Amino acid sequence: MTLNFRFDNSYARLPEQFYVRQTPFAAPAPSLIALNHPLAGLLGLDGEKLASEEGIAALCGKALPPDAEPIAMAYAGHQFGHFVPQLGDGRALLIGEIIGRDGIRRDLQLKGAGRTAFSRQGDGRAALGPVLREYLLSEAMAALGVPTTRALAALTTGDEIWRDGPVKGALLVRVAQSHVRIGTFQYFAARGEQTALTLLADHVIARNYPELATAENPYLGLLHAVIRRQGELVAKWLLLGFVHGVMNTDNMSIAGETIDYGPCAFLDSYHPFKVFSSIDSQGRYAYGRQPQIAAWNLARLAETLLFLLGPNEEVQTAEANGALASFAGIFATAYQRGLCAKLGLDPEEEADVSLAQDLLARMAEGKADYTLVFRSLCDAAEDPDCDRQVRTLFAEPELYDEWARNWHERFERGRTATRLASLRAANPRYIPRNHRVEAALKAAQKGDFSEFQRLLQVLQAPYAEQPEFAEFATPPLADEEVCQTFCGT
Ligand code: AMP
Ligand code: MG
Repeated sequence: MTLNFRFDNSYARLPEQFYVRQTPFAAPAPSLIALNHPLAGLLGLDGEKLASEEGIAALCGKALPPDAEPIAMAYAGHQFGHFVPQLGDGRALLIGEIIGRDGIRRDLQLKGAGRTAFSRQGDGRAALGPVLREYLLSEAMAALGVPTTRALAALTTGDEIWRDGPVKGALLVRVAQSHVRIGTFQYFAARGEQTALTLLADHVIARNYPELATAENPYLGLLHAVIRRQGELVAKWLLLGFVHGVMNTDNMSIAGETIDYGPCAFLDSYHPFKVFSSIDSQGRYAYGRQPQIAAWNLARLAETLLFLLGPNEEVQTAEANGALASFAGIFATAYQRGLCAKLGLDPEEEADVSLAQDLLARMAEGKADYTLVFRSLCDAAEDPDCDRQVRTLFAEPELYDEWARNWHERFERGRTATRLASLRAANPRYIPRNHRVEAALKAAQKGDFSEFQRLLQVLQAPYAEQPEFAEFATPPLADEEVCQTFCGT
């Protein structure tokens, strides 16, 4: 039985200054926790074979296939606003690239593969908790319809690593349409390496934005296109109540996928400036600040591309500023359209947009559960009797009543069956609620993966009613609420 990954490693063909070659550490006793069969299929891989002893040895990096070329990618980044000229893959290795059945090229990356030239003080390893957390969250995001890196497999390594105490070592096999980050551009810009920057931009265009290859200025096109993808991505995050938690420039993908699930979280009760991350003491990456931060990060990208944007400094600056100025509109359009879709309203009508925003203000005041309010409104749209249940989600139910009258009236005017159906497609019943994720990880630490598996299953169909899993849709009780999340290091 042989495994054929059919790697085609375009990044490893770039000059050596882009990465450092590194063999993964040999896990003493690797064991598979989860394997994503549909994703394996999409990659043209045989899930049965991947789950075999040979497959596990390949997945954990112990016995890589001959066409794998493990490399640690070089990158820099602004961390909480401070520039660090060299970060790089300190605990992850890009193993190779696979062209999937859909024709899309994807990276296979091992996260937790051991020390690299970029590890600094770190051990290059990943702990079980953060690995399972990223598996759950990234797969949930994919099912929710958000561009994201994916999880192909999670494994335990069979040894212990040290965090606050001893914890199980683990590995995540991650799939992404690119692992190039804004920080990758910053790495070369900080060194004044214009040839490398041009090569990197050409690589990204060829791989992720091929339609730009024939544009008048592909580099300007690239800046515009990345701004668009990021603006639309962050709108999707907000619409689902997602807080990334560490939007450093090294955690922002050039391909516009959600990447690096650290102390991320989904809102339970709504508040526009909610922060979960234990290390985000200033609230830089609060829920409602994410669009602003994305724009700031994109300005850092623009700086690295300036010299490619026009014949002289004046044109370059004007083009960069023009592109960056488009972010606000792209985000606002995507967000308002999405918010109105969640309520069956018309984003072209100013009064409808205000009505939607009024609900958010009332939810903040009434500490209402973000996901549950919107999903319950799908029921109320069909049957106003259900208002009785929605209003209980607000600390002061009257906050809902007045708004509901306006909304019903407005909704009735445009009521159609497809509109009702599209409401349910815009408002998930199931999200990876923080207390459920924590409970699943806690049980996994003790060797019980059943909660992890159950949660993973529920999250495959977040928009469907799954009465057998009803308990996963409910907000945490006061003593279950998770208010703080920790980075995956
Ligand atoms: P992150 O917080 O995951 O975005 O990582 C920020 C930087 O720290 C990246 O350069 C990572 O490769 C590095 N890093 C995180 N955890 C470890 C670790 N356990 N060992 C070595 N490097 C790490
Ligand atoms: Mg990172």
